[in-house]
Amino acid sequence: MAMVSMRQLLDEAAKGGYGVGAFNVNNMEQIQAIMEAARETKSPVIVQASRGARGYTNDRFLYHLMLAATELYPEIPIALHQDHGNSPETCISAIEMGFTSVMMDGSLMPDGKTPADFEYNVRVTREVVEIAHARGVTVEGELGCLGGIEDGHGADVDALAHLTDPDEAVEFVERTGIDALAVAIGTSHGAYKFTKKPTGEVLVMSRIEEINRKLPNTHLVMHGSSSVPKELIDMINKYGGKIKETYGVPVEEIQRGIRHGVRKINVDTDNRLAMTAAVRKVLFEKPEEFDLRGYMKPAREAMKEVVKARMISFGQAGNAGYAPIPLEQMAQKYREQPVTA
Ligand SMILES: [Zn+2]
Repeated sequence: MAMVSMRQLLDEAAKGGYGVGAFNVNNMEQIQAIMEAARETKSPVIVQASRGARGYTNDRFLYHLMLAATELYPEIPIALHQDHGNSPETCISAIEMGFTSVMMDGSLMPDGKTPADFEYNVRVTREVVEIAHARGVTVEGELGCLGGIEDGHGADVDALAHLTDPDEAVEFVERTGIDALAVAIGTSHGAYKFTKKPTGEVLVMSRIEEINRKLPNTHLVMHGSSSVPKELIDMINKYGGKIKETYGVPVEEIQRGIRHGVRKINVDTDNRLAMTAAVRKVLFEKPEEFDLRGYMKPAREAMKEVVKARMISFGQAGNAGYAPIPLEQMAQKYREQPVTA
């Protein structure tokens, strides 16, 4: 199956009342782990690349690995998404390469650090929507700021001081015409999200419910949504790692979000932890090992297991069986419903 728009995956998810994990990739083994998990659970998938990942892989390599995935897994609907585009130029270069979805993160200035104002965010996001929709490509926007920094991206602000405002969200969606909205509800990027098991005061799930009431037809996106399983942290530390005590977003809270309009859930840290733990275990137990397949195979397997578990708990498992809508047809739909605000 050719790559499909992320919009189609999210529309299907809304119909079925489930969420779709968006997993970050930087190399072949991660793509293979996701695709095997998708096949075993019959899940549609969103594979996403940050700017850092595009730089690391030289994105032509990444793109061609994804083409291989579409050939080898023809039964799986796949969307390829630019995670946290920092400027229209970044999004346009992704679209030109063949990404079927982009995030224009205008909540931050192009430096990826400084919080931007609302009018700037509307302007750059709308600009990307016009270019992307003309080609049937999906656009995710963000309002409010997450805490933490990942791949050099992030404001590292106090997450609770920058929650998404529900009324602003309505205006933002109307004026930009985005397909999906990333909301800030107190989460952070990276492994260090919460210093104790999060309560409703630090992980403000009620905010998602409020936004969903005002925007029932907008697909919501949760960033920074790794669960940071204690057993993976413990395993890393057991085999020589040094990761401080930390807590992520419990899977039950994500499921609560899915009941209130969350359709895309970004997961990166959990996969990094799983692979690192597996590599450490092999190198600790077999210090004589120097064949990289000796540790990359278990690492790939460990990531596959995490991805499978998320696919099952988000509800996307068993939902790969639909026909692709060509991007030209998506473009036609957008032409019929132009943004007028
Ligand atoms: Zn993010």
